[in-house]
Amino acid sequence: MSETAGARDKIVARNLTLAYANQLTDASHTVLDGFDLAVSEGEFLALLGPSGCGKSTFLSILAGLTPQTSGELTVDGEPVSAARQKLGLVFQGYALFPWRTVRKNVETGLEIRGVKRAQRRDEAERFLRLVGLLDFADHYPHQLSGGMRQRVAIARVLAYGPEILLMDEPFGALDAQTRELLQQELLGIWEHSAKTVVFVTHSIDEAIFLADRVAIMGRGPGRVREIIDIDLPRPRDAAVRHSTAFVELRQRAWASLKPELGSAHGSAAERITDTYTGA
Ligand code: ADP
Ligand code: MG
Repeated sequence: MSETAGARDKIVARNLTLAYANQLTDASHTVLDGFDLAVSEGEFLALLGPSGCGKSTFLSILAGLTPQTSGELTVDGEPVSAARQKLGLVFQGYALFPWRTVRKNVETGLEIRGVKRAQRRDEAERFLRLVGLLDFADHYPHQLSGGMRQRVAIARVLAYGPEILLMDEPFGALDAQTRELLQQELLGIWEHSAKTVVFVTHSIDEAIFLADRVAIMGRGPGRVREIIDIDLPRPRDAAVRHSTAFVELRQRAWASLKPELGSAHGSAAERITDTYTGA
């Protein structure tokens, strides 16, 4: 396991197994088996793999939403059930509360924490400014574009103040330009925070652009097959995508992923190929 020198393990998965029971046939479907991963404190880790390999399942166990079948998963050495407050989630198309303004959406987590009204307002405004949406504080979600809504979801999770951000293809539904802008914004925010990030994606370029390390998953059953260190300098901007080092990393990730794209899952293979060639 290649951990950043001197950094402390924040998240550790050891021999994690998850089997879904089929109520009708009494059979079970093993999704994760022998899943090992360690994420350092403050690290940006991307989890890359074809559709259906178990990426969301892993995040769901980590978020404490799905109990594992066996194996160990700890945050700061404790079981995830004890670490819920440290975790914040952003999913693809993460639903905002449609009846609440942008400001009120961002304040939600603070309300749950019992933060007083004036402080809530200040905090929410700070994070709305960070994601460039202060001018839209009194709008409702339906008045915003998809990219803006995803920004609100990010502001909301940041306002909640988790130590660990779990992101499941958060930019998957956005157009390419908005996606690149938000990747850049997310990096800017992360570079000024001490947060640990686990970012799930099926895009090779997105994984390399964002992460310190890319863990590549395969299926049958799902586990981490390889970890690639992304030694590109930071801060990163769009130009890095055209560097020789980036192109080499892309080829390496592609070579590692390709055998995982079974013919029965043609659409996943095509999507990854698009991402790869369309860079
Ligand atoms: P990914 O996020 O990598 O696309 P998922 O973790 O969503 O993959 O799913 C992995 C596998 O687990 C898939 O075969 C999926 O059909 C199956 N699966 C996911 N959730 C459930 C569930 N609640 N019950 C049964 N099978 C599930
Ligand atoms: Mg998924």
